Amino acid sequence: MNDKREFKCNRCGCCCKNIGYVEEAAFLNRGDGVCKYYDDVEKKCIIYEFRPEICRVDKMYKRFKDKMSWDEYLDLSYESCDKLRELEKNKSKSIEEATERGNYFD
Ligand code: SF4
Ligand code: SF4
Repeated sequence: MNDKREFKCNRCGCCCKNIGYVEEAAFLNRGDGVCKYYDDVEKKCIIYEFRPEICRVDKMYKRFKDKMSWDEYLDLSYESCDKLRELEKNKSKSIEEATERGNYFD
Protein backbone atom coordinates (compact mmCIF):
# COMPACT_ATOMS: atom_id res chain seq x y z
CA MET A 1 0.00 0.00 0.00
CA ASN A 2 1.32 3.46 -0.91
CA ASP A 3 0.53 5.74 2.01
CA LYS A 4 2.77 8.61 0.90
CA ARG A 5 1.03 11.90 1.67
CA GLU A 6 0.20 14.01 -1.33
CA PHE A 7 0.86 17.73 -1.54
CA LYS A 8 -2.48 19.47 -1.82
CA CYS A 9 -2.25 22.87 -3.45
CA ASN A 10 -5.32 25.01 -2.84
CA ARG A 11 -4.38 27.17 -5.83
CA CYS A 12 -4.33 30.40 -3.84
CA GLY A 13 -1.73 31.69 -6.32
CA CYS A 14 0.43 33.23 -3.61
CA CYS A 15 3.60 31.51 -4.84
CA CYS A 16 2.90 32.60 -8.44
CA LYS A 17 2.51 36.20 -7.25
CA ASN A 18 5.83 36.17 -5.37
CA ILE A 19 8.33 34.45 -7.62
CA GLY A 20 10.49 37.58 -7.48
CA TYR A 21 11.92 36.22 -4.23
CA VAL A 22 13.22 33.08 -5.93
CA GLU A 23 16.38 33.62 -7.91
CA GLU A 24 15.91 30.43 -9.83
CA ALA A 25 12.47 31.52 -11.00
CA ALA A 26 13.76 34.78 -12.51
CA PHE A 27 12.88 33.52 -16.00
CA LEU A 28 9.21 33.52 -14.97
CA ASN A 29 9.18 37.07 -13.62
CA ARG A 30 7.05 39.41 -15.71
CA GLY A 31 8.89 42.33 -14.10
CA ASP A 32 6.89 42.95 -10.94
CA GLY A 33 7.59 39.74 -9.07
CA VAL A 34 4.51 38.01 -10.50
CA CYS A 35 4.86 35.07 -12.86
CA LYS A 36 4.21 35.89 -16.50
CA TYR A 37 2.04 32.78 -16.74
CA TYR A 38 -0.24 33.82 -13.90
CA ASP A 39 -3.62 35.05 -15.08
CA ASP A 40 -4.63 37.82 -12.65
CA VAL A 41 -8.24 37.79 -13.80
CA GLU A 42 -8.90 34.06 -13.73
CA LYS A 43 -6.46 33.71 -10.82
CA LYS A 44 -4.74 30.67 -12.25
CA CYS A 45 -1.68 29.40 -14.07
CA ILE A 46 -2.24 29.40 -17.81
CA ILE A 47 0.36 26.69 -18.41
CA TYR A 48 -0.49 24.54 -15.40
CA GLU A 49 -0.09 21.18 -17.18
CA PHE A 50 3.28 22.32 -18.55
CA ARG A 51 4.54 24.37 -15.61
CA PRO A 52 8.29 24.12 -14.98
CA GLU A 53 9.86 21.82 -12.45
CA ILE A 54 10.40 24.63 -9.95
CA CYS A 55 6.60 24.90 -9.64
CA ARG A 56 6.17 21.19 -8.90
CA VAL A 57 6.47 20.28 -5.25
CA ASP A 58 6.76 16.54 -5.92
CA LYS A 59 9.52 16.89 -8.52
CA MET A 60 11.48 19.38 -6.41
CA TYR A 61 11.77 16.84 -3.59
CA LYS A 62 14.72 15.16 -5.32
CA ARG A 63 16.78 18.19 -4.32
CA PHE A 64 15.97 17.70 -0.65
CA LYS A 65 15.60 13.97 -0.27
CA ASP A 66 19.07 13.56 1.24
CA LYS A 67 18.31 16.19 3.84
CA MET A 68 14.78 15.38 4.96
CA SER A 69 11.96 12.90 4.74
CA TRP A 70 9.03 13.42 2.38
CA ASP A 71 6.82 14.24 5.38
CA GLU A 72 9.23 16.87 6.65
CA TYR A 73 9.48 18.30 3.14
CA LEU A 74 5.69 18.49 2.85
CA ASP A 75 5.38 20.19 6.24
CA LEU A 76 7.97 22.77 5.16
CA SER A 77 6.15 23.29 1.87
CA TYR A 78 2.86 23.94 3.67
CA GLU A 79 4.67 26.31 6.01
CA SER A 80 6.01 28.23 3.00
CA CYS A 81 2.49 28.43 1.53
CA ASP A 82 1.22 29.88 4.84
CA LYS A 83 4.02 32.45 4.88
CA LEU A 84 3.30 33.46 1.29
CA ARG A 85 -0.41 33.83 2.09
CA GLU A 86 0.49 36.03 5.05
CA LEU A 87 2.77 38.11 2.82
CA GLU A 88 -0.06 38.61 0.30
CA LYS A 89 -2.48 39.54 3.09
CA ASN A 90 -0.04 42.17 4.38
CA LYS A 91 0.54 43.53 0.89
CA SER A 92 -3.21 44.04 0.36
CA LYS A 93 -3.46 45.64 3.80
CA SER A 94 -0.66 48.12 3.01
CA ILE A 95 -2.29 49.03 -0.33
CA GLU A 96 -5.65 49.54 1.41
CA GLU A 97 -4.05 51.71 4.10
CA ALA A 98 -2.09 53.78 1.56
CA THR A 99 -5.21 54.21 -0.57
CA GLU A 100 -7.15 55.38 2.51
CA ARG A 101 -4.38 57.88 3.25
CA GLY A 102 -4.49 58.94 -0.39
CA ASN A 103 -0.77 58.44 -0.89
CA TYR A 104 -0.68 55.21 -2.84
CA PHE A 105 1.78 56.68 -5.36
CA ASP A 106 4.11 58.26 -2.79
S1 SF4 B 1 1.17 29.08 -2.22
FE1 SF4 B 1 0.97 26.88 -1.94
S2 SF4 B 1 -1.22 26.48 -1.89
FE2 SF4 B 1 -0.90 28.51 -2.81
S3 SF4 B 1 -0.80 28.15 -5.04
FE3 SF4 B 1 1.29 28.11 -4.23
S4 SF4 B 1 1.70 25.94 -3.82
FE4 SF4 B 1 -0.51 26.18 -4.00
S1 SF4 C 1 4.34 28.76 -14.17
FE1 SF4 C 1 2.30 28.62 -13.34
S2 SF4 C 1 2.52 27.51 -11.39
FE2 SF4 C 1 4.53 28.29 -11.98
S3 SF4 C 1 4.73 30.26 -10.93
FE3 SF4 C 1 3.95 30.61 -13.01
S4 SF4 C 1 1.75 30.71 -12.79
FE4 SF4 C 1 2.58 29.73 -10.96
